Amino acid sequence: MLPVRSLFNDAMHLFFPHTCLGCGNDVIANNSILCLRCISNLPHTQFEKLAGNPVEKIFRGRLPVEAASSQFYFSKGHLVQYLIHQLKYKGNKDSGEYLGAVMGKALLQSGRFSNIDYLIPLPLSAGKEFKRGFNQAEVICNGMSTAMQVPVHTRNLIRGRYTDTQTKKHRTERWENVEGSFAVLQPLKLQGRHILLVDDVLTTGATLEAGAQCLLNIPSIRISLATLATASK
Ligand SMILES: [Zn+2]
Repeated sequence: MLPVRSLFNDAMHLFFPHTCLGCGNDVIANNSILCLRCISNLPHTQFEKLAGNPVEKIFRGRLPVEAASSQFYFSKGHLVQYLIHQLKYKGNKDSGEYLGAVMGKALLQSGRFSNIDYLIPLPLSAGKEFKRGFNQAEVICNGMSTAMQVPVHTRNLIRGRYTDTQTKKHRTERWENVEGSFAVLQPLKLQGRHILLVDDVLTTGATLEAGAQCLLNIPSIRISLATLATASK
């Protein structure tokens, strides 16, 4: 459940579009969705600066990645959850692009994500994307692209089956379910490239891993990973 405060903010934003999406404050820069106080309270992980960070540890031994990071801690009822909820379920793309830009800037400044050729949003299944009308990871990539000056590459890594029912299944079974549902349509376009694969929230990492494994079949490709938020500490 999101706090009542969020409902108030939704209403405020509807009638006064240029108020802070976090607290309703109307003192806010034109190109921002948050006031300075909410910006300074965003829970950055700082993982991007750190080799061997907790996100890289999740994938260690599972996947050869150049670098991996999650920008924010994800906790229930807090601002980052609310902003991601705004993106995924309210179609508020400004929210996703803004957070993507913040992440893109941080990744670039870290120096550990500076030689990326393409940003690839982790695809949803075609059915799920149709239902939502967009892929939230692609919106995040659009924000990152502006900040990093790296193009977004879509419609090449694709995803087949529905995986909606997978949350009820055991983890190993889920992995088998996810594995094999990705495909690359034009592998030559990515040969020898360094790809930053992007998703919204990191949980077990199984889906991100499956997508990356599919890309790793391409000769001399290099993969890095980034998610907006992580549930891990
Ligand atoms: Zn605010």
